[in-house]
Amino acid sequence: MKDIMPVNGQFAMPQLAYENLGTVISRETLSFHHGKHLKAYVDNLNKMLPGSGLEGLSLTEVVCRAEGGLFNNAGQVLNHAMYFEQFLNTPRPMSAELTAKLEAAFGSVEAFKTEFEQKGVTLFGSGWVWLSADKDGRLVITQHKNAENPVTAGLNPLLTFDVWEHAYYLDYQNRRADHLAALWQIVDWPVVESRL
Ligand code: MN
Repeated sequence: MKDIMPVNGQFAMPQLAYENLGTVISRETLSFHHGKHLKAYVDNLNKMLPGSGLEGLSLTEVVCRAEGGLFNNAGQVLNHAMYFEQFLNTPRPMSAELTAKLEAAFGSVEAFKTEFEQKGVTLFGSGWVWLSADKDGRLVITQHKNAENPVTAGLNPLLTFDVWEHAYYLDYQNRRADHLAALWQIVDWPVVESRL
């Protein structure tokens, strides 16, 4: 994965392209999710960094070393930066190479998607479902609560779906499974593969 560095001691707001998401995630959801929830995490992170001893480190380094409120806000900035980056461009298909890796790990791309959605649906409470590569390059799906990120478990995170209710409740209410199934339509796979 690409790491994110602070500029003049501040982490910037991750970008968002509204126009690519309209049929799957509404502008109203995005205005809260990106414009309010994520903005608060970024503002809190930038307020908490001075004096923490972690100033000047990359975002991943902050996530791996921080605790408490600083960890929660830094983790959520990293998680959302990766989440929204997957949807920045017009969706493009996955390569034959990634297709082969998913088939080797899960049997088929469809079986991978089914397991990924299932792990998202069965995560109790707030959190994230991730596809990561382990130290041997093996692809794995993991659930992480609240602000956790797979980097703290020694994994290289590649793809994530946000299962906090703020990600889907305005559009899908309690139908988390329908939201997760729809998200495949907007994944820009070359961005996911660039993290390998
Ligand atoms: Mn979120």
